[in-house]
Amino acid sequence: MAKQAPGKVDMEKMVSLCKRRGFIFQSSEIYGGLASCWDYGPLGVELKRNIKEAWWRAVVQRRDDMVGLDASILMHPQTWVASGHVEGFADPLSECKACHLRWRPDDIKDGKCPACSGELTEPRLFNLMFKTSVGVVEEEAAELYLRPETAQGIFVNFDNVLTATRNRLPFGIAQIGKAFRNEMTPGNFIFRTREFEMMEIEYFVRPGTDEEWLQYWTEERLNWYTGLGVKRENLRLRQHGPDELAHYARKCYDIEYLFPMGWSELEGIANRGDFDLMQHASSSGKKLTYFDEESGEHLIPYVIEPSAGVDRSALAFLVDSYEEEPDKEGLRVVLHLNPTLAPIKVAVLPLSRNESLLPLAKDIYAQLRQRWMAQYDDAQSIGRRYRRQDEIGTVLCVTIDFQSLEDQAVTIRERDSMRQIRVPIEELKRTLEAKLGGEPFDVLPPGGTKWLGFTDS
Ligand code: ATP
Repeated sequence: MAKQAPGKVDMEKMVSLCKRRGFIFQSSEIYGGLASCWDYGPLGVELKRNIKEAWWRAVVQRRDDMVGLDASILMHPQTWVASGHVEGFADPLSECKACHLRWRPDDIKDGKCPACSGELTEPRLFNLMFKTSVGVVEEEAAELYLRPETAQGIFVNFDNVLTATRNRLPFGIAQIGKAFRNEMTPGNFIFRTREFEMMEIEYFVRPGTDEEWLQYWTEERLNWYTGLGVKRENLRLRQHGPDELAHYARKCYDIEYLFPMGWSELEGIANRGDFDLMQHASSSGKKLTYFDEESGEHLIPYVIEPSAGVDRSALAFLVDSYEEEPDKEGLRVVLHLNPTLAPIKVAVLPLSRNESLLPLAKDIYAQLRQRWMAQYDDAQSIGRRYRRQDEIGTVLCVTIDFQSLEDQAVTIRERDSMRQIRVPIEELKRTLEAKLGGEPFDVLPPGGTKWLGFTDS
């Protein structure tokens, strides 16, 4: 699994940091673990929530052409017949005749089993959908699938949303939710798992304008990642060749990220044409058309689908923000997470456990956590505590010292530059708000000073 990352963090180091600091744990670990399933711990759940909220703000809240949906995971089984998943959602896999491991063609290098160099069978198709049964009496229970993508929940609700919102083309529907795929070769930490979360948009457009919108969304989605701090040189676009296009796609781009194991898909943006609406219309017998007032015609819109993984995004954000810097104590590990994504925005640190400092420190902590995810830490030296916060990406640390009792001012220390400013307590909330919102750290509030009292670097 762990090849050295190009330049910085390898996967083993990332897995270990995530476990140690409470981002991500192996699922069911006390029972020996369940392969390729992961649990998000106290910090991981915040990171994931911040990613989903940032996505929702960008693609729903701040746009007037998008609405949201939350469809159920279990759907009528006919959905998956119509969508082509029962027939076509399968991976070709070759099985090793010696160790019986199965491999995707892109994992096989020299025609031999990558694990034991044994002889491989010809590839066979394995459907990736999980089956489950619903009902009390086993024999009468209906067989259903756990959805392998959220998209179909959007297509089957197309007419409901259209009627309820009276949206005009072009418009889109966005959805975040769990999806399940019985991946034969899961791995690389949270990169490919059997249960994962997707953030999907189905954007409905007039046929003929689809190419333009595909370009638009590709650009828009790339900008979303870079806007949240992912380095542009670690992202690239790759167009699918005709032989790798999914059964529904007319054209598709992958946004790839330079993960520790190499360039791999982060998000797919596909032009699905009218495939899905046509299929569901003919399979259900319902009309899934749009009345175009301009032309006076009923038409079936084309669909552009930007489809992203929450977990893969989380991995990309973590890897991209990781940095090790030598310092006088050895090594400073920092997650330079964008403030929007950082699990903890601010930490409150009394200089020592001296009793005279605690009431003020606790009072400030109680106030700040009304507004932000905050942490309080008074264990060990201030330098150690800064390092602990750096390692989890906490953006700002507020330090309360003995002078604070005299001058009613505290120190704010910035994660990335390690610089410090001293601000009156009455300006603290406003200052934190401004800094977390992107104001340069040097800009001081009324009564604030650049402060160099702690030696921290
Ligand atoms: P891959 O070929 O890497 O398995 P895919 O092309 O099948 O991915 P899509 O069907 O395009 O993936 O899914 C859209 C997005 O959902 C992916 O870009 C990825 O971010 C996420 N995703 C898909 N499968 C998984 C998985 N098994 N684990 C985690 N995320 C996934």
